[in-house]
Order: sequence, then structure tokens, then C-alpha cells
Amino acid sequence: MNKLSVHLRNLSADDMKGRRFASKGSIVAQKYIISSLTKGKVNAFQQKFLHPFSHKTLFSQKNGHNIIGYVEGTKFPHQYIVLSAHYDHLGEKHGNIFNGADDNASGTAALLGFANNIARKPLQHSVLFLFTDGEEVNLLGAKAFIAQQNKLLPRIRLNINLDMIAGNKNTSQLHYIDRRLDNILSNGKLSEFRELSANQTIKVKRGFKQNNSHYKNKVRWYNASDHGEFNREHIPFIYFGVGVHNNYHSVNDDFDQVNLTFFIKACRSIFQYLYFLDRNITPLQE
Ligand SMILES: [Zn+2]
Repeated sequence: MNKLSVHLRNLSADDMKGRRFASKGSIVAQKYIISSLTKGKVNAFQQKFLHPFSHKTLFSQKNGHNIIGYVEGTKFPHQYIVLSAHYDHLGEKHGNIFNGADDNASGTAALLGFANNIARKPLQHSVLFLFTDGEEVNLLGAKAFIAQQNKLLPRIRLNINLDMIAGNKNTSQLHYIDRRLDNILSNGKLSEFRELSANQTIKVKRGFKQNNSHYKNKVRWYNASDHGEFNREHIPFIYFGVGVHNNYHSVNDDFDQVNLTFFIKACRSIFQYLYFLDRNITPLQE
């Protein structure tokens, strides 16, 4: 089995108990992510992989943990691309485990694969691999990252967020949305960027369908996942996903229900987009 699929299978296995925020299953997931980063010789960011944060409600305080890996850029070591994916999911309800294979073992697996590749062959920009916790609890991990790394924000050129990139058996299209790419790409490079979709082995489409028959509420895609917190800071971002489908937030979002062939191709496409951006972002004047 392809390494990406192995990560996807392991991250959506029952022993992680649905990776609920501040749960035992979450710790199993954290260990898996960190051991994979360590094996791939990916550096810990600021000397630590685990970046804890606390979440207080009226009655309790819970601790979440973002995980951050780092590979220094060859040409622009002080200019960053942040690749993000949330690893938490819904946990268990009434004895059923919500494994969240698409949401978001898929994005997490992709990030582990990218980290492994980039550690062997660094990009021009420094890359942070941000595995967020508590996304399912109102983007807690992304909020904590923004608060904790306040000084770094002006040097973050781009956030690429992956959330649900394996879909279900019927999935055949990858979608993306973006904002402020014209701040970091020349007009010519932005047009080249838009044309990358023509070279992909899957359909890659800009924008999401606004009304989805599987989901009654209107999805606000610009804020639907961790990229929303980067957007709020006016940091250019791209979000990749497949959109809402009938396994979304259901017990059927399992490893045997995702579209593995599509998932592998989606990872390759996203990597091509990343590679293009790394080469073509207009450098900040240091
Ligand atoms: Zn998600």
C-alpha cells in the first residue's frame, strides 16, 4: 500500500477513538504524528513538536496540543509557508467511533507525506507543518497558533490548508478557494497558477458548490476550517477540499469508504501547486 494510504489508514483506526479534542485517543494520534515526523528527520519547530494551549469554558479547562514540524528554506529561510491540517475529530458518541478518515485523517496523512519529502529535498521557503488540534471545537488550534506565533505572522507568506481531501467513493473533484494570491504573485504567475489545473490527473476546480443537497446549512467556505484564522490576519491562503458529502461528520467516514486512488492523486496535485508557489512567490525585501 502507498505510504500516504498507510498514514490515512492508521490515523483513522479505531485505537485513536475518533481523535477527540483533549482525549486519550488524541494522545495516540499525537504520538503517531510525532514519531512519523521524527522518522522523516523533520525538525521540531522552536525545539518542540508539541505546542500546548488551554481552552477554558465556564466549567472546565482543557488542554489542546498543536504539533509543528519545520524544514528550513534553501533560499528564503526567514519567509514561511505554513501547511496546515487538523488532526482532531469528533471522538465517540453512543458507543460509535467517528473515525474521520476524510475529515481529517486525509489532510493529516498528506501533510506527513509532504513533510517527509520536503525534509529530504527542502523548498526555497521555510515550511511549517502545522497539525492543529481542536478544529472541530471552533478552530481552537489555529487560533492558538496565531496568538502564540504573533511575531512570525508578517513572515508567513502563505497558508495552505488541507481539510477533507479523500472524499467518499463518489468523489471525483478536488476544489480550492484562495484569497490575496495577487499580493504574493505577479499577474503573469497568477495566471500560470490558475492554469495548473489543466495538467492534473484529477479535476481541480476553483470554488465550491454553494448549495449541497447532503447538507442543509450553507457552508461559509472562507471560514470553514483553519484557513479562516489566517484569513482573519490577512495572510494569503489556499484551502483544498472535496466539499461536503454524505459521510461528512457521520460514523461512515471510515477508511474503507474513502476514495484512495483519488486521494493519492489529490496529494500529488496539491504538491505541484505548493512547488509552483514556492518557486514563484515574490520575495519579501529583507
Ligand atoms: Zn475538518
